[in-house]
Amino acid sequence: MKRFEGKIAMVTGGGSGIGADTAAAFAREGATVVVTDIDEEKGRKLVEEINSEGGRAIFLKHDVSNVEETEKVVKAIVEKFGRLDIAFNNAGISGPSIPVAEYPVDSWEKIISVNLSGVFYSMKYEIEQMLKQGGGAIINNSSILGKVGFSNASAYTASKHGVVGLTKAAALEYASRNIRINAINPAFIKTPLLESAGMVQSSPAYEMMVALHPVGRFGEPREVTSVVLFLASDGASFIHGESIMVDGGYTAR
Ligand code: NAP
Repeated sequence: MKRFEGKIAMVTGGGSGIGADTAAAFAREGATVVVTDIDEEKGRKLVEEINSEGGRAIFLKHDVSNVEETEKVVKAIVEKFGRLDIAFNNAGISGPSIPVAEYPVDSWEKIISVNLSGVFYSMKYEIEQMLKQGGGAIINNSSILGKVGFSNASAYTASKHGVVGLTKAAALEYASRNIRINAINPAFIKTPLLESAGMVQSSPAYEMMVALHPVGRFGEPREVTSVVLFLASDGASFIHGESIMVDGGYTAR
């Protein structure tokens, strides 16, 4: 028996990086996976791959910063599958590297709307459904920057601290209703997001950033996926409102 046989799992920002790896892993472990992403091409390609390998997945286009779209996405999942057991609220963006006094207000608003409001909107409708069906598990993707600060990344850091707070508040509200809500806090993980932030092996900052990880390397998406799947599983039945560092020791100092 696979761990998530018969379960319906939704992954936002599921077309790339950590989300794509997690979506594929949920499918390998028996879940029917709903990959949602703002990037239709990447999301559809992943769904094709999952289905061609014998998994079950569908794609829904979804901008997590759009509350109406989010409501429609959850509604569409429930109409098609009748329930939503697991949600990995993963979609997120990085943003410019600029100190607060010069930080563009439009960048601030964009990052908060995707990384923080996006998680709130998703949880709002996921929880509404999970209450109707009697339970579920939600995992929110924060960051080490949900625990510690980072220069020139105020909006990202604030948004990810916000995700941790939101996770705790919601976990308290719904623990008694059989809905488990937790967060993960990855350090630097090798994904397209890291590359888009300029963190490539040839860049001057690369070795400096690697050195901040006591393990001596950046993480792989699969090392995050395994924690997400654990938190979604019955093995985590007594874990509520937790945010788990997945960081090669970054925040242990
Ligand atoms: P990624 O490879 O860029 O994947 C993120 C996916 O989300 C992309 O397909 C992206 O599409 C999509 N997306 C962007 N804005 C969206 C929106 N408004 N609505 C729906 N989807 C949207 O990034 P990743 O590294 O896997 O990051 C996933 C999550 O992990 C993020 O929340 C990130 O903050 C968090 N995280 C990452 C790291 C890291 O080092 N990689 C560390 C800590 C936490 P586009 O490509 O079109 O933008």
